[in-house]
Amino acid sequence: MRTAVFVERDGILNVERVERGQPMPPLAIEQLQHNPQAIEPLLRLKAAGYLLIATTNQPWVSRGVLPRRELDLMHSILRRTFSLDDIFVCPHDHSEFCPCHKPRPGLLFEASFKWKLNLEHCVVISNKWQDAEAARNAGCTSILVESPWIGAGRGDAVVARLGDVVSKLGKLQYTQAA
Ligand SMILES: [Zn+2]
Repeated sequence: MRTAVFVERDGILNVERVERGQPMPPLAIEQLQHNPQAIEPLLRLKAAGYLLIATTNQPWVSRGVLPRRELDLMHSILRRTFSLDDIFVCPHDHSEFCPCHKPRPGLLFEASFKWKLNLEHCVVISNKWQDAEAARNAGCTSILVESPWIGAGRGDAVVARLGDVVSKLGKLQYTQAA
């Protein structure tokens, strides 16, 4: 069985805009701006043998604001930029009560089925509490990067910067093995 690092897309891989106090994803390819701080940590995790898998809620697809084709184009750019192995999308609005809308763990289960993952050894990296909650529901470890969206620190660990994720992960694994 393989292990993966799951990364939230908006705010980790690409820069989030903030509108009326809420994070907003890019809704057109011209708005997609990759986060340069994510390049090196993700390369190091890939070199350590993890699959790199992004997960993302994109309710604007279901709401008819974001064309699926535009989203797919953005994802092909992100896959190339970060050497991602896969991207799993929930296109539904939260009012649809689908099993894949984070904080529900459906995307993690879907990825686990496709890639034969041992979720107990997988790690979720995000700047939002919803991912920590999904991680807990799926049995993964979560590391949250400080942001206005992490809630009451529900992650297994919180780091100040994305660059601190790799060393934090090493320490978590050392503690678990001891
Ligand atoms: Zn969904």
